[in-house]
Amino acid sequence: MQFSELSLIDPILKALTEEGYTNPTPIQEKAIPILLSRRDLLGCAQTGTGKTAAFAIPILQLLSEERSKSTGGPRRIKTLILTPTRELAIQIAESFTAYGRHLNIRNTVIFGGVSQHSQVNTLKAGVDVLIATPGRLLDLMNQGFISLRDVQFFVLDEADRMLDMGFIHDVKKVITKLPTHRQSLFFSATMPPDVAKLADTILNNPAKVEV
Ligand code: AMP
Repeated sequence: MQFSELSLIDPILKALTEEGYTNPTPIQEKAIPILLSRRDLLGCAQTGTGKTAAFAIPILQLLSEERSKSTGGPRRIKTLILTPTRELAIQIAESFTAYGRHLNIRNTVIFGGVSQHSQVNTLKAGVDVLIATPGRLLDLMNQGFISLRDVQFFVLDEADRMLDMGFIHDVKKVITKLPTHRQSLFFSATMPPDVAKLADTILNNPAKVEV
């Protein structure tokens, strides 16, 4: 299978060629059509399978199509990606930047352990995609710097690690602030009962993909 068979727009195909990607990985082959059809997704996949591109590519495409129809105005956070660590957050942001380099979609990353000042300034300038660790996200939400009112795509990445690291309460708090009408994606390397239960509370009739 080729990326060109996945109904992707030219600016994304061009970026993938520039990245040196020739063929989609199995999770990309399965997940991209599901996500472009606007269904929720439950993905059982480890890091290294190409799962970041499996969600970043279709989200970028849907955001870009919507942006081309809109009349402009300030950017609002339309995509929220929650991930357990700073390193993963940065990797995901780099992927969005790379695959979206020919699109007019902005992303930023927020995480704890550093000053919030520059993170807040970037948020104020307006972003379409926010990649966050749960603690700093809640902190900035409580200070009034972030609203999740316009979120259309929600991704919970590495859910099992999120639970292992004790983020369950923070994750649940964030979920209560999301619009109920949204597309949700849930990724986990393993699916023990507590993780499956969390997935149940987030997803609506999801397609399941395992790699
Ligand atoms: P991930 O599983 O998302 O952490 O991705 C693992 C690595 O695979 C990253 O370095 C990606 O840049 C790379 N990658 C993702 N998709 C592809 C692809 N279709 N072809 C080649 N490399 C890829």
